[in-house]
Amino acid sequence: MTSQNQLFDRLCRSRVNLADYSTYEIGGEARHLALPHTLEEVAAMLEGAKSKGLNPFLFGMGSNTLFPDHPDDEMLFFSLKEHIEFKLLPGRLFVSAGTSMTLLSLFGLYTGIDSFDFTFLLPGTLGAGIYMNAKYFNHQISDVLETAYVIDKEHPEKGIISVPLSSCEYGYKTSIFMRRPWIVVGADLKLPEDPKLTSEQTNELFAKLRSKNLPSSMLPDYFRHYTNELNVAAKQGFHVRQELLDVIADRSGKLHFDYPSCGSVFKNNYTIGEPMGKLVDRLGLRGTVRGGAMISDHHGNIIQNRGGAKASDVTDLVKLVQEKVEGEFGFVPEPELVIV
Ligand SMILES: Cc1cc2nc3c(=O)[nH]c(=O)nc-3n(C[C@H](O)[C@H](O)[C@H](O)COP(=O)(O)OP(=O)(O)OC[C@H]3O[C@@H](n4cnc5c(N)ncnc54)[C@H](O)[C@@H]3O)c2cc1C
Repeated sequence: MTSQNQLFDRLCRSRVNLADYSTYEIGGEARHLALPHTLEEVAAMLEGAKSKGLNPFLFGMGSNTLFPDHPDDEMLFFSLKEHIEFKLLPGRLFVSAGTSMTLLSLFGLYTGIDSFDFTFLLPGTLGAGIYMNAKYFNHQISDVLETAYVIDKEHPEKGIISVPLSSCEYGYKTSIFMRRPWIVVGADLKLPEDPKLTSEQTNELFAKLRSKNLPSSMLPDYFRHYTNELNVAAKQGFHVRQELLDVIADRSGKLHFDYPSCGSVFKNNYTIGEPMGKLVDRLGLRGTVRGGAMISDHHGNIIQNRGGAKASDVTDLVKLVQEKVEGEFGFVPEPELVIV
């Protein structure tokens, strides 16, 4: 047995409940799941999957993914959320793909840099944010990205490939990463000004933020952890910008953390002139229930798990909205949610 295969067997957990790895808290038992911590472990995962004929499915925090009720035994689910690295470089910050996007806003809080404020309480990992150009109001990941680093799943032997911003083909919740067999492993992010910390202090700061047990994919846990981090910073005398407090008010007001969900289910269709939430409202679909899932009675573009929902309950509601919207408004809304 090669050392890569041994590493694969050591990293792979069996019979793991995917519901524990998704903010929907939905998903059946996976036969294979791995959480690599290093790039060497990522390479061993890919190698092992190939030699065992498994189909790898990559995810981060599972905040935009609906896992199946009965996962295919031939799939290897693997998340980079435990691969967390950062390095302050001249004029830029290198961050590994598994890092929580919210940690970027905390880095900004401690260093006086405000360009990452929009990532505060934006669930998910940087890798997925780069993949789908995560967005909060007028700010998106492509605003802060300089270069993404990827591994080609089909040709891992090529090593790490640099993708500069100009080649990322970014648009509204779309990118080249959705069209290539690439795993984003990290990125250089732009720093608009020099942070008030030295490189060593930055490393210490991230090590401290990381040393606390990072939250699970349960949304109340996530909300509590990161709002508490603001309180800790404030007690140490750091200035908490109003923008961060506004995020708490906005997301709490929209009940983002009250029920398991994956946030917005559909992308907006900007040719229609109204966001998806409003269109669903106009169809009177808010509050519609299928099994344990419900179209939020607060926001028409969110489907919540109100207790014991199955993936099929959510997909039934997705289909219902698509049919009704097509009938009334003449287009089939495109899910933003990744349905496995
Ligand atoms: C309460 C709530 C509010 C939300 N609000 C917003 C919002 O305001 N704006 C917004 O944009 N989104 C929002 N979302 C959705 C979610 O935050 C983003 O889609 C985020 O980018 C998902 O990150 P993740 O790590 O959880 O991705 P996952 O759900 O784990 O994965 C999503 C997709 O990304 C791919 N992927 C993951 N990691 C990588 C990688 N390293 N390389 C390549 N592909 C990868 C996966 O294969 C999958 O297809 C919200 C979600 C919730 C639950």
